[in-house]
Amino acid sequence: MIQKALFVLLCCGLAGCESISVLAPRAAEPVAPPQATGDAWFDAGQNALFARKMQTAHSGKAKNVILFIGDGMDINTVTAARIYDGQSRGVGGEENNLSFDTFPYVALSKTYTTNYQVSDSAGTASAMLTGVKTRSGVISIFESVRRGDCNAALGSAATTLAEKAEDAGLSTGVVSTARITHATPAAAYAHSADRHWENDQELPSEAKEAGCIDIARQLVEFDHGDGIDIALGGGRQNFLPTDVADPEYPEMQGARTDGRNLAAEWAAKSETHAYIWNNADFNAAPAGQKLLGLFEPSHMQYEADRPDDGAGEPSLAAMTAKAIEALSQNESGYFLVVEAGRIDHAHHEGNAYRSLKDTQAYADAVRVAREATDIDDTLIIVTADHGHTMTIQGYPKRGADILGLVVVDDEEGEGPLPAAGDGKPYTTLSYANGPGSIFADDVDLSAGRPTPTDVLDKNYRQQALIPTGSETHGGQDVPVYASGPGAHLVSGVMEQNVIYHIMADALDL
Ligand SMILES: [Zn+2]
Repeated sequence: MIQKALFVLLCCGLAGCESISVLAPRAAEPVAPPQATGDAWFDAGQNALFARKMQTAHSGKAKNVILFIGDGMDINTVTAARIYDGQSRGVGGEENNLSFDTFPYVALSKTYTTNYQVSDSAGTASAMLTGVKTRSGVISIFESVRRGDCNAALGSAATTLAEKAEDAGLSTGVVSTARITHATPAAAYAHSADRHWENDQELPSEAKEAGCIDIARQLVEFDHGDGIDIALGGGRQNFLPTDVADPEYPEMQGARTDGRNLAAEWAAKSETHAYIWNNADFNAAPAGQKLLGLFEPSHMQYEADRPDDGAGEPSLAAMTAKAIEALSQNESGYFLVVEAGRIDHAHHEGNAYRSLKDTQAYADAVRVAREATDIDDTLIIVTADHGHTMTIQGYPKRGADILGLVVVDDEEGEGPLPAAGDGKPYTTLSYANGPGSIFADDVDLSAGRPTPTDVLDKNYRQQALIPTGSETHGGQDVPVYASGPGAHLVSGVMEQNVIYHIMADALDL
């Protein structure tokens, strides 16, 4: 405490002292005010140095671990979302911090799978949740199994951290804005030779005959400990049979051809099990329940579209808070996986706006989790599974709308819209490939690049080079941020599967 008092004393003679704290996570990085002199930047740098010197590692064990996976959230996405978040709140963008920007420990994660330089969510989530790298396209099985080989997969399950946690008496939860059977959340509780085997209709008949089980069934039949305690996300169709109408979209049916209503089976497991599918029931659900919440037939809405949803959907932050409230009733602790699944989907559509908006919602969920948990007993790791091809380009002036056209600083006398070699303006964000390609069939190149109003439309696709129907993933490293017991082990450049080992060590599993 003397150290803290001394630290505050030292800092208060310097710029931005009120934002400094010795408590982890480190307070927002001090920055100089907008019209700062060189001295103010120097002082802010000194404050940042002090904050680092005062940082102490939590070397003890964790009672709880929360793994946040921002699907497709590479460093460019984080930087752009940080600027978007600040700008959308009417404060500065570049100097803004997302919740996890203030976490004290950061590393880079190498995202390749055993057979792909540029990976997918199945292989990468399996690495983080089982501790071993494996092939793209498979769910928590060893790399020796070829994708789709049910027979080989049956004998090659890689134990997941959720299985170990349940076996040890901890509680477990999975939360995602994607289908809860989609690759990332599935890797926590399922083993599958193919990520697409989300319901029984997706399994080839040979796989069914050989004894492979679809991913939705594996969630409901999870047989470690007392089963998965909380599962919140999309993907309702994979749990309902084809003769049952969807409650929100009555013209749609379930996807299961085995006649099983897995949502009803979940609810019938015990007095405390419950199935919900809309926001009102979500808000009313008491903390003691083992909840299966499925809020859309497929993926949940993008954050940008969530207010328009008919039945209402909880935000990622609300689902995270609900999961923590439920899981923390177990005195032995818990392991929770939270995925922002649609950062990736919007990138695939070449639509940066929705991707940044979902990243903003993800950062909000991390903030809620850190505030709802004790830094001394809960390790929070925030990372991504793989990158995308979005870049932040040109020389836009500081404060330029991150979703807008590149504008330069007027003082440099170059006018507000610098043109490229073809005489046309261009956006700060763009993609290397995707449906927004300038070479796509439906693009009239003579029409020129978009106007300032076009690019701010929420459906605007940033321009891309190579025409692909869906923008692809990127192969760059992704960041890993950590706070809490064991967080200091997140450092340097790591293979992605090391994240599992840090989490398992923190939980002593
Ligand atoms: Zn993807």
